[in-house]
Amino acid sequence: MTVVDADVDFGELDRQGGLGVRCLGVVHLYRTFEGHDVVALQGVDLSIRPGERVAFLGPSGSGKSTLLTLLGGIQRPSAGRIFLGDSEISRLPEPELARLRSRRVSTMLQGATRNLLPYATARQNIAFARLALSGAERKQAVPERELLARVGLASVADQVVSTMSGGQRQRLALACAVSTGPQLLLADEPTSQLSHEDRDAVISLIHELGDELGTTIVVVTHQPEVAATFPRTITMKGGRVGLEGRDGAEYVVIGAEGVVHLPTHLA
Ligand code: ADP
Ligand code: MG
Repeated sequence: MTVVDADVDFGELDRQGGLGVRCLGVVHLYRTFEGHDVVALQGVDLSIRPGERVAFLGPSGSGKSTLLTLLGGIQRPSAGRIFLGDSEISRLPEPELARLRSRRVSTMLQGATRNLLPYATARQNIAFARLALSGAERKQAVPERELLARVGLASVADQVVSTMSGGQRQRLALACAVSTGPQLLLADEPTSQLSHEDRDAVISLIHELGDELGTTIVVVTHQPEVAATFPRTITMKGGRVGLEGRDGAEYVVIGAEGVVHLPTHLA
């Protein structure tokens, strides 16, 4: 974990290559909710390199979803800064933030399949996800049928969402999320409602698409089997970032039940 100084001009440092190209940087991030005592995020610092894949773990209420919505530019931080490449997400005016959300960053919120249009077909859902793109951008994008075939939905391309299985809907939500060619894909519990078979298939697909598109991927999960497929895991607790693990070593996993699993030499 890289902890950076809040006074540093992060954008300038990034342009100079000090942080590597186009990383996601988070500096002293706080989020409170008016009228609520809890501080959902209390000073999160982190740095994610381009193309990196990170899984966030941690008990319920530890701030994972809040962090994801801030990274996705869906909510604004109460304090602190978020940088994506040379943009400072946390200070962008709303129209530019909307532009960023429709192109550079895709967020699959918890229960993302609920945001699909139930009475529209799979193809229509992809077209809808690309509504904010210009005609030229849409022409450059992967054609709907090709994208659907890529996620294993070729046979249901013209079927309405309400007739699809949970696994098919999650694949479609993923196809919609990557359909705009984002630099960063954020997914909150993308496999929590799925059978083991569908869960493994969706996670493999996320990694395959990441390989093909070079997308930076951040996933929130409470499933250790899912986290184990990620080269980097970060655990959150009480609105703070805890210990990190890399490449399967030195994991300190705070399970959904709040149990801390220490590496053997620390136990
Ligand atoms: P997680 O995804 O790890 O379960 P959340 O980010 O959803 O955690 O929540 C972190 C804390 O912030 C919790 O205490 C939760 O109750 C609170 N919180 C989240 N969103 C809101 C909101 N819109 N209004 C009030 N409190 C919220
Ligand atoms: Mg959550």
